[in-house]
Amino acid sequence: MKRIGLLGGMSWESSALYYSLINREVRERLGGLHSASCILSSVDFADIERFQHHGDWTAAGELLAAEARRLESAGAEVLVLCTNTMHKVAGDIEAAISIPFLHLTDVTAKAVLAAGINTVGLLGTRFTMEESFYTERLASHGLKVITPESDDRAVVNTVIYDELVLGHILPASRLQYQAIIHRLSQKGAQGIILGCTEIELLIHPKHTPLPVFATTRLHAAAAVTAALT
Ligand code: GLU
Repeated sequence: MKRIGLLGGMSWESSALYYSLINREVRERLGGLHSASCILSSVDFADIERFQHHGDWTAAGELLAAEARRLESAGAEVLVLCTNTMHKVAGDIEAAISIPFLHLTDVTAKAVLAAGINTVGLLGTRFTMEESFYTERLASHGLKVITPESDDRAVVNTVIYDELVLGHILPASRLQYQAIIHRLSQKGAQGIILGCTEIELLIHPKHTPLPVFATTRLHAAAAVTAALT
């Protein structure tokens, strides 16, 4: 089994989910007392959010590239960046390491296509929903991506930064997300990408009639596959 390097803390609420999912997945696949071989580097999310807020993606990329190098030096054999948004600086990270980088958007796109879906709704931070680094990468796999209208994007983003990254799971926010998912389905979405690693703490498959693609779950499972092959 290869050692998985988890670059997390963005936020730690979802990194904890990654850790648990990866270990459960290894136990399910290998049985017995097996658990994952992994190393977690967890950054201070306040630093990351400040860089995002000021648009200082160079500093964010440098910080995450340094952490990725640290993970590689510590023996990581595959790297998992535990956030959708910070894949904006995936190029900086990939350039800093020589181990494979498991790109979350590619993992997600493959899962959507495997479900026979080609038009998909996307929920995430405003960076993920509005900037090309994520939507164009999905489109490069042949997917048509529908994002919420401006007001709805603001709600989705605010719930992430004011509630979910702090571990606040509020039924009122779930209702807002369900209404937004409904509007995406009216615009043609056949499934919904939960394109922020905390959204699956709020929205579970039972909360929507559409199939959901939970990026933390998908990424964790792909990490285990990479570790075991
Ligand atoms: N975890 C989130 C994501 O998947 C948001 C936090 C961040 O900005 O990194 O995008």
